[in-house]
Amino acid sequence: MSAKYVDIIIDISHEAIDRAFQYEVPLSLYGKISIGMQVQVPFGNGNRLRTGYVIGMGNEPKWQVDKIKQVHGIVEKQIPVEGQLIQLAAWMKETYGSTMYQALMTVMPVKKKIRPVEKKTLQLAVDVEEGKLRLLEYRRKHYVAKARLLEALLEHGEFPYDLAKEKLNISPATCERLREEGTLEILTETQYRQAGTRKHLTEPEPELNDNQKQLVEEFTKDYLAEDYKNYLLHGITGSGKTEVYMHAIDIVIARGRQAIVLIPEISLTFQTVMRFRRHFGDRITILNSRMNDGERYDQFERIRKGEVDIVIGPRSALFAPFSNLGLVIIDEEHESSYKSDNVPKYHAREVALQRAKMCGASVILGSATPSVISYYKAKQGEYRLWKLSKRAKAAQLPTVEVVDLREELRMGNRSRFSYRLQELLRNRLEQGQQSILFMNRRGYASFVSCRSCGEVVNCPHCQVSLTYHDHNSRQPKLICHYCGYTEDFVKKCKACGSGMIGRFGSGTQLVEAELKEYFPEARILRMDADTTKGKDGHETILSAFGEGKADILVGTQMIVKGHDFPNVTLVGILAADLSLHSQDYMAGERTFDLLTQAAGRAGRGEQPGAVVIQTYDPEHMVIQTSAQQDYEQFYDNEIAYRRILKYPPVFSMIAVLITAEQEEVAEEAAETLAAYMRTCQQEKKEAMEKEGMEWFVNQTVRVIGPTPPVISKIKDIYRRVIYLKAQEEAKVLEAKDRMEQYAEQLTTIGEFKIYFDLNPMKGY
Ligand code: ADP
Ligand code: ZN
Ligand code: ZN
Repeated sequence: MSAKYVDIIIDISHEAIDRAFQYEVPLSLYGKISIGMQVQVPFGNGNRLRTGYVIGMGNEPKWQVDKIKQVHGIVEKQIPVEGQLIQLAAWMKETYGSTMYQALMTVMPVKKKIRPVEKKTLQLAVDVEEGKLRLLEYRRKHYVAKARLLEALLEHGEFPYDLAKEKLNISPATCERLREEGTLEILTETQYRQAGTRKHLTEPEPELNDNQKQLVEEFTKDYLAEDYKNYLLHGITGSGKTEVYMHAIDIVIARGRQAIVLIPEISLTFQTVMRFRRHFGDRITILNSRMNDGERYDQFERIRKGEVDIVIGPRSALFAPFSNLGLVIIDEEHESSYKSDNVPKYHAREVALQRAKMCGASVILGSATPSVISYYKAKQGEYRLWKLSKRAKAAQLPTVEVVDLREELRMGNRSRFSYRLQELLRNRLEQGQQSILFMNRRGYASFVSCRSCGEVVNCPHCQVSLTYHDHNSRQPKLICHYCGYTEDFVKKCKACGSGMIGRFGSGTQLVEAELKEYFPEARILRMDADTTKGKDGHETILSAFGEGKADILVGTQMIVKGHDFPNVTLVGILAADLSLHSQDYMAGERTFDLLTQAAGRAGRGEQPGAVVIQTYDPEHMVIQTSAQQDYEQFYDNEIAYRRILKYPPVFSMIAVLITAEQEEVAEEAAETLAAYMRTCQQEKKEAMEKEGMEWFVNQTVRVIGPTPPVISKIKDIYRRVIYLKAQEEAKVLEAKDRMEQYAEQLTTIGEFKIYFDLNPMKGY
């Protein structure tokens, strides 16, 4: 690339990105400078030479030409990791549509020193026999937290203090009490290093089975041949994917390179963390989204200094500044949490592939229910497809039954629980086994409407209905889940004055209430957005359930991920098809994933499990294939549908969201932009036809809309959406650029904003 001017930042930090300086490229360096490079520039009044990074290039001067200084020279070294991250940011800017500033803010750590806290380790201070006696006593006295901590110590011997806090939900006070009793020791880093001895109480790691071995051998062969491939590991839950990841990382580390492991936060349990620590010791760092800027910066510093080889964390761990990155692993690659909600709306999978390509690394994607897009690419040969189709341990797969809810109604069953589900629930209660009841949140919100006139109570700021919340005996409230608007529930219709106003639909609370009627003796825990508000709300409920403090756990999608409950032998899915009928093209894929994951919760222990899928649409392809746990069949059907309707992954698609404070502005801007895009496409088409390029005519970009999205107003901001589709991604990206440029010139309409979402994962 050649350009007359470059934008330089002197320092790699959030503060500096704001202050980019423009320099002129001297003739001698023309065409030799690219984004991410380190250059020397005269800086400040004294024009002292300083090293900076190129973050932008262009041919237009931004101020008086004679005031612009010249680049002194290129720093003769290969591009450092900071430069690579800048290149990555530039790619993200181009691909997802954002400013360079927004893209850099995403990849750069905030520079914020915190007072270094000394790392502490918890260590079992009594022998195992004594520990077991104490554990029995804690249990007898119902010291739940103490028991949980001691149990983990008995299993692992020792682990970082932070881990106890974050993943086991143990308070400092609990640790202190166990220390006073002499059950554990809290070692500072220095003490720990001096003590030197590591207590290995954990079980030995499993030997890989033949299937796993074969994959690891293939990876090793490719890697040693410097053939850095990308792999998609399709392996059912419990098939031993994590073991494969760890052995692949061994190969990479042995060659002096580093690895990033992305795991959705909710799946990164204490057990998983400990498995990685057992295998790799402490050359590993765990990031989480609750870390503050300073903590994150600290971790990134350790990485920069070469103190760790492996980072495990959510989406943003992808930007760990490893100088010799060799492997990126993305577990549960189908998860929607890998897609960013903020601009640039990047997908971690796509960015990982790009980063790996830039530095000669491999990517392993893993899932029990791969995203349709990844499976499609694997079938096209872009990724090597790996399979693990048996559970590594002897656990059996659960049996799955589908119940037709229409039939239940015909038989006079008006409850939310089918006769079959009631029967199995009763049976589990009798046997002292646990059950999970799962519902789709979407479509299950409990809105309030008037039975006389049909009026639905909506949020005054968003185009959605308010949700009824009954916080026990207090005044019931109506809450908007988009903006948080709250009002008291008044039993009088605002439209017609009737008192016949009430709840429809059924939230988790209603399910819980009905469950209590049917099974008064059952102990029930509920897990939804309301009961998990606190910082550790999730963990508290899940560990209570894990400790057998309830017979039935009722909840939304948040209960289907991650955790293993060996005593759960029944999973009921209350209305499986509700999420099928949402508006976007990914509804089927999401439902299949949800049902498969939910079913995977049953029978993780010794006892075989049963799954009941209740549905109004038992013949539906997604219900059928997930009941049979047949991913291939699901995929074949789904891809055929995507092909016919020209959806991703067969076509590339961008959702263009236009927002404005006034509805007319949103409307007019969207109309104008769509019309402009259509004209561009029409011109292109005619030009092609003239040149006889019939075949190419089909290659133009389709413009769909504008339409008001499903929710056309959020927080008093009006929204319109346009979709751009084309067979080739390059074509939609080109169209996006044109649209963005045109939008900048559209100044007469009024103020509006434009956002792009490449291959969106949700409906608008
Ligand atoms: P996944 O990541 O596919 O869900 P895991 O790697 O977590 O599967 O393995 C599931 C369970 O099986 C774990 O408890 C793990 O220790 C065990 N396991 C994995 N591989 C083997 C093996 N080869 N032999 C015995 N147990 C294994
Ligand atoms: Zn009314
Ligand atoms: Zn609202």
